[in-house]
Amino acid sequence: MALRIDGKKISTEIKDELKVKVEAYKEQGIDICLAVIQVGNDPASSVYVGNKKKACEYIGIRSLAYELEESVTQEELLSLIKTLNEREDVNGILVQLPLPKHIDEDVVIRAIDPKKDVDGFHPYSVGALSIGEEGFVSCTPAGIIQLCKRSGIEIAGKECVVIGRSNIVGKPISMLLLRENGTVTVCHSRTKDLKEVTKRADILVVAIGKPKFITKEYVKDGAVVIDVGIHRNENNKLCGDVDFDDVEPVASAITPVPGGVGPMTIAMLMNNCVEAVKLQK
Ligand code: NAP
Repeated sequence: MALRIDGKKISTEIKDELKVKVEAYKEQGIDICLAVIQVGNDPASSVYVGNKKKACEYIGIRSLAYELEESVTQEELLSLIKTLNEREDVNGILVQLPLPKHIDEDVVIRAIDPKKDVDGFHPYSVGALSIGEEGFVSCTPAGIIQLCKRSGIEIAGKECVVIGRSNIVGKPISMLLLRENGTVTVCHSRTKDLKEVTKRADILVVAIGKPKFITKEYVKDGAVVIDVGIHRNENNKLCGDVDFDDVEPVASAITPVPGGVGPMTIAMLMNNCVEAVKLQK
């Protein structure tokens, strides 16, 4: 039986540890604050923003919510970011993506002060990660490393295969696995013979964005399988990029969907807000 890596439990552990740190900062007179900007009222974005606010409340972080009209101009949004960059009482700034089409996401991400870039998407943060300097690490990949560490899964010296090379998952998780001394291979849509590569993996991270794509034919016996995907199936139930029922019998450990990688993203966002205080000192 494969170990089911319990992201819900691990994310709660992390949030409880952060609560203690936030309390200690409060005793020193430091009140951590996250500003969350949402443009428009896309229902999925509203759910994500609501969950972030709840996590802030749980941990004791002050959250400032900016709900901007869908029609807001790029200049108005950039002006708000500039104000928040300059405010000493704001430690983290998060702009909920995606943004409406008339706003250039890259320009907006680059406008956030890298010292407040708690999503870790600014090119400065990405560069810092790749050269091993201090900076914010994007939340989902950072969560995957925590899932492994807190489940007793050794990364050093292991064959790690990542499927996907997106800026928010594939590339940063590859850099992090390398930083943890894994031997890393990155696959994408032009990879020839995907199965042949994934079958080598001791740790297989799947961020392909296709529901239940990975079946046992792609997985070596005893591999650790981390499923980043989130989809709704035909019955409106959540599923991942991995066919869980098919793969679980051959894996040594596996993340379920829901309850695996998903809950870790917000926990690591909260961690970045707490780390922000140190970076800003
Ligand atoms: P994405 O931007 O769509 O990237 C998918 C990657 O998979 C691309 O690099 C693509 O290659 C590669 N790919 C597609 N088809 C392939 C194939 N047949 N063989 C090999 N590689 C293939 O997706 P993403 O943003 O990284 O997200 C991946 C999944 O994670 C999605 O289901 C998303 O919803 C989920 N997600 C979850 C969380 C969370 O908190 N749990 C956070 C972010 C994302 P090319 O580069 O060549 O096109």
